[in-house]
Amino acid sequence: MTIRFDGQVAIVTGAGNGLGRCHALALAARGAKVVINDLGGARDGSGASSDAALAVVAEIEAAGGEAMANGANVAKFDEVQAMVEQVMAKWGRIDILVNNAGILRDKSFGKMPIEDFDLVVDVHLMGAANCTKAVWDIMKAQNYGRIVMTSSSSGIYGNFGQTNYGAAKMAVVGFMNTLCIEGEKYGIKTNCLAPTAATRMTEDIIPDQRVLDLMTPESVTAGLVALVAEDGPNRSILCAGAGGYARTVVYETDGIYLTPEEQTPENVLANWDKIDDATNQQELKAGWMQTNKFVAKAAKSLGIE
Ligand code: NAD
Repeated sequence: MTIRFDGQVAIVTGAGNGLGRCHALALAARGAKVVINDLGGARDGSGASSDAALAVVAEIEAAGGEAMANGANVAKFDEVQAMVEQVMAKWGRIDILVNNAGILRDKSFGKMPIEDFDLVVDVHLMGAANCTKAVWDIMKAQNYGRIVMTSSSSGIYGNFGQTNYGAAKMAVVGFMNTLCIEGEKYGIKTNCLAPTAATRMTEDIIPDQRVLDLMTPESVTAGLVALVAEDGPNRSILCAGAGGYARTVVYETDGIYLTPEEQTPENVLANWDKIDDATNQQELKAGWMQTNKFVAKAAKSLGIE
C-alpha cells in the first residue's frame, strides 16, 4: 500500500527549513498541494524573510508538485486566519495541518527572562492553537482532517535549559488529547510527533558529524507521513529519529484506596511503593476514566459494585 495525498491540501508551518521543509517535500511528492508557511526568522525567533519558503516552493514546483508560500507568524491569529482564507480561496479545502514551526530560547530557569518563556510558549503552543482553530471548522465541515502537533522529548522528559520549550511541547500533548475526543465524530485525527534530527536546532548539541549524518530529517518525515495518512493512528505520540520509531504512552498506576479515616498525608507517603506499583497500570483515554476508577474503588469499599 502506497500512501498518497492526491486531491488533498496540506499546511506545514515552519516549512522553510529543517523538518518542516522535509515534511512538505514528502507530502508534495505524494500528491498533496502544500502551503509552505514560514516566518523566515533566526533560530531564536528574531527577524523574518520569505526566502526560505519561496525556495521550498520552487523545489516542489521543479519536481512537478504544487505549493504556495505564506509568511504568517503562527503566533498571530489574524495572520494565520488570513493564511487559511488565502488557501481556501485558492484550493478550496484543507485536509492536513502539520504544526511544526518552532524556535528556541534556551537558558536555565533562574536566568531566563520571563519574556523568553512567553515567546516560546507563544510560538509552539499558541502557534499550534491558532493554526488548529483556523482550520478546525473547515475540517469538521469536510468530515475529514489530519492534524499533527510537534512535541519533543524535552517536554515529555525534560532537558536542562528548556523549561519554556519543554512546557510548550508537553502542552501540545494535552491539546491533542482533547482534540481527539472532540474531533473523532468529524473524522479528524490528531497526533503528536516527537522528533530528533540534525537541523539548525540541534547542530550545536551534537558535534560529531558522523552522528549528525544518521539523524536525517527524512527518517522523521517517514513517521510524519504515516501520522497524516488516511489510515494513520489517532491520539498517538510518535517518537522518531535516526531510523528509530517508538510510541510514548502515559500510563496511570492502579493505585490504592484509603478510607476517609486513612486519608492522611502520612498514609499517602507510607503507601508510596503501592501507589507507584506498575502492576495493572492503564492507559486512560479520557480524564473521566480516572474519576470512574477512583469512584469504583471507593464504591467497592462500601460494597457497591
Ligand atoms: P528549524 O529551526 O530548522 O525550523 C523551524 C522553522 O520554523 C524555521 O524555518 C522558522 O523560520 C520557522 N518558524 C519559527 N517561528 C515561526 C513562526 N512564529 N511562524 C512561522 N514560522 C516560524 O527547526 P527544526 O529542527 O526543523 O524543528 C521543527 C520542529 O521540530 C520544531 O517545532 C521543533 O521544536 C521540533 N523539534 C525538533 C527537534 C530536532 O531534533 N530538530 C527535536 C524535537 C522537536
